[in-house]
Amino acid sequence: MYCESLIHYKRRYTNTVRVGPVNIGSDAPIVIQTMTSKATSDIDGSVEQILKADEAGAQIVRVTVPSMRDVEHIRAIKEKLLAGAHHIPLVADIHFNQKIAFEAAKLVEKVRINPGNFADSKKFEQLDYSDTEYAAELDRIRQEFLPLLHICREHNTALRIGTNHGSLSDRIMSRYGDTPEGMVESAMEFLRFCKQENFMNVVVSMKASNTMIMVQSVRLLAVRMKEENMHFPLHLGVTEAGEGEDGRIKSAVGIGALLADGIGDTIRVSLTEEPECEIPVARKLVMHFANHTQAGDIPPFGKYFINPFSFTRRQSTQVLQVGGKQVPVVIADSQECSGNLHPDFVFINHHQDPIPDIQNLVELDNKTDLNTKNNLLPLVTLQHKDLLDFVDPCFVRIRTAELNNAAFRKLQVLKNKVLVLSSNNLNMLADLRSAIVRLTMHGIKLPVIVKICYQTDDIETLQVKAAADSGGLLLDGLVDGIWIANTGNVSQQEVCSVSFGILQASRMRTTKPEYISCPSCGRTQFNIQETTRYIRERTRHLTGLKIGIMGCIVNGLGEMADADYGYIGGAPGKVNLYHQKELIKRGVPENLAVDELINLIKDRGDWVEP
Ligand code: SF4
Repeated sequence: MYCESLIHYKRRYTNTVRVGPVNIGSDAPIVIQTMTSKATSDIDGSVEQILKADEAGAQIVRVTVPSMRDVEHIRAIKEKLLAGAHHIPLVADIHFNQKIAFEAAKLVEKVRINPGNFADSKKFEQLDYSDTEYAAELDRIRQEFLPLLHICREHNTALRIGTNHGSLSDRIMSRYGDTPEGMVESAMEFLRFCKQENFMNVVVSMKASNTMIMVQSVRLLAVRMKEENMHFPLHLGVTEAGEGEDGRIKSAVGIGALLADGIGDTIRVSLTEEPECEIPVARKLVMHFANHTQAGDIPPFGKYFINPFSFTRRQSTQVLQVGGKQVPVVIADSQECSGNLHPDFVFINHHQDPIPDIQNLVELDNKTDLNTKNNLLPLVTLQHKDLLDFVDPCFVRIRTAELNNAAFRKLQVLKNKVLVLSSNNLNMLADLRSAIVRLTMHGIKLPVIVKICYQTDDIETLQVKAAADSGGLLLDGLVDGIWIANTGNVSQQEVCSVSFGILQASRMRTTKPEYISCPSCGRTQFNIQETTRYIRERTRHLTGLKIGIMGCIVNGLGEMADADYGYIGGAPGKVNLYHQKELIKRGVPENLAVDELINLIKDRGDWVEP
């Protein structure tokens, strides 16, 4: 199994990594980190961002070090922080150049390297190695990596082996493809070097903008590490998650699915916003799981029939447009939703008139109302035997705690019903998962919609909690719909938008364009926050279109592998435009680039008028 338990919340066991005064690992609370977005040469700007992030609660801050000159800049940043008695640990983010890593490792508390470009390269070439040649290449990489370990050991510097889905080397891609297996092997090669050298001050990460790939690869990494007796802590994050609601929900789906299973020791919520904006989101996510050890008992089940490393969907029968091969549906407490979206079903009060042109769900105690009103779908409980027999199709409300043998027997004979499953357990995801697995093991194929209930006045809290509780279920293909009920002061329109956002972030249902935008860092070649907002404004009606917006080429092309259009910083103030992976225009001035992108979308026939 990829985690300690699927029914008891328990952190995956790890050794402890020391990053200056901060410990990362299963014996320590989950650590929150972020990254600066100013050019590293902007020493005052970078220090200001670090202090703001520190004040917001970041425990570690990463700074990009793209050149040897920037080694001096990060030294100056460090000195300035220390002069003000600020001891927040810094991480140097290194791509491409080992020598920069060697120098930065002498200055900061942690160095992050990318195994896709540390002594390795990505030129989108297909390389054909024999086993001997592959081993020789690995040995060359090892020789180039060992000096870094010696420097880190000498200076008490921690290391992160940070694999990105978008920047796997050609060597790894040629042998393993663009897969979770490839991501895991890319990191494992370096972790084996660390283990052979008995260097244990290492954290490892597997990031992707695709939440499914991110979750599957981290799970697989946890398994591979265990098989090889490695216990390195895990850093979690969804790259290029975007901004606003999309960024928050996407991060909470990916990171939350793993934290729920006790996987993850440090997290970064990557938003295309100022670094300090990431911290409250990360804290909400960490706090959401803080009391899960006190959750009530969850019934065990036998073998988990879902493959946690590749997507499969629980087989359910189709009832109305729910289940089977249909996309997951949304039930809402109001028909209000954002844009042109409408929930698939609206729950209405018993005394309310049905809302026209939408499927209304109403809780029934007897048959009378059904006879007097049209356009109603009844929601009943298992106890209403006469209604269950009488109404067809209908929705059956059931709590996980009610699922005993008698309930399973009743459910086994039902046809044409949709189950609406809810849980009162603190560990909601694990409880719902256990219930759905037990239903399936009892041969019950009725579609399942999960109802998740909250009481909050804060939309960000709702986005984070709902995505963290339901994302893992969706990514594992267990559910056929979601119903978010909130009794706090958040508009129904926002609640509905969160529901559709979660389905899109978990890649189950597309109802808007997807923006794969990076959080930006010192490598960013244009104003990414403003540009992302502008592109979103101009293209928000292009449902289903995927647009990658990347500050630079480091993860650009690979991360946008399935994007339709790419907008990537090529040089300061200059943008390269891509259609799929094909470079269409190079060096477009920043002030013209969004118009050029729209023209390109029109030229390729993907534009529709708003
Ligand atoms: S893609 Fe964005 S965050 Fe990543 S290195 Fe480039 S500019 Fe920085």
